[in-house]
Amino acid sequence: MTNTDYQIAADYIRNADAILIGAGAGLTAAAGINYTDREKFAEVFPAWVKRGFSMQYQLMGYQGWTEAEMWGYYAVHLNYVYFSQVSSPLYKDLRRIVGNKDYFVMTSNVDELFHKNGFDADKLYTPQGSYGRIQCTVPCTQNSVWDIRPFFEKMQTALDPELQVLTDDAAVPRCPNCGEPMFINARIDGSFLETPYEAERERFIKWINGQVDKKIVLLELGAGYNTPTVIRMPMETITQQIHGASFIRVNWEYAAVPANLESRSLGIQGDIKAFVDALMQ
Ligand SMILES: [Zn+2]
Repeated sequence: MTNTDYQIAADYIRNADAILIGAGAGLTAAAGINYTDREKFAEVFPAWVKRGFSMQYQLMGYQGWTEAEMWGYYAVHLNYVYFSQVSSPLYKDLRRIVGNKDYFVMTSNVDELFHKNGFDADKLYTPQGSYGRIQCTVPCTQNSVWDIRPFFEKMQTALDPELQVLTDDAAVPRCPNCGEPMFINARIDGSFLETPYEAERERFIKWINGQVDKKIVLLELGAGYNTPTVIRMPMETITQQIHGASFIRVNWEYAAVPANLESRSLGIQGDIKAFVDALMQ
């Protein structure tokens, strides 16, 4: 990132009446949670290193385990990536950058770090779900989704801290409605329940429709090509449709902006934390 880039980004934000933040996995990594971090994995999941794994990424979608093993892993994983992650200096800085401007956040991240660091829950759209909820995997009804905390606490009572597995099958989450297996309410396949996010989507659409005549800046942070239809493509489409919009894309690898938006866009290839630090100065 050059000083000129920083100046342009700072001007876009200063001159805007409203900010739309679009955040992807790159922001999670910049805040310190990296699913491919071997060193951290060895520290947090020693029993899973003994079973031959070296990073959290390898256990996403893994099938070769019993339910007691799987929920033992998730009891530790949930604590590490969700319950123990509360305050983040990076997110607090982002909140300061937004300041008193009108804002909305859409994110593919399921960690609720925006909400935990001062962003209003009514100003978030999280279409990929939340680690704060658990759902029926059938699912038996559209409303078979619950607060994960009581299920998590039950797992903890049966967690063998050395083996990192559950020692009692009764602590394996079962749907309170039908008794079938459960999983975190995150979009991993077609069983994902969107019910909790429908109201968020309606609020978001209403908000963005209210911006068409205004000066808005879209700030995209770490949204690459894993699920481009969730954040990256909508950010481009919204920029195209709002004439007074400017667009900042910060991405470690894929910072290019569409040619037809170049006159009011800025692509910054680099580290999100360095970008936020520069803006804070
Ligand atoms: Zn059910």
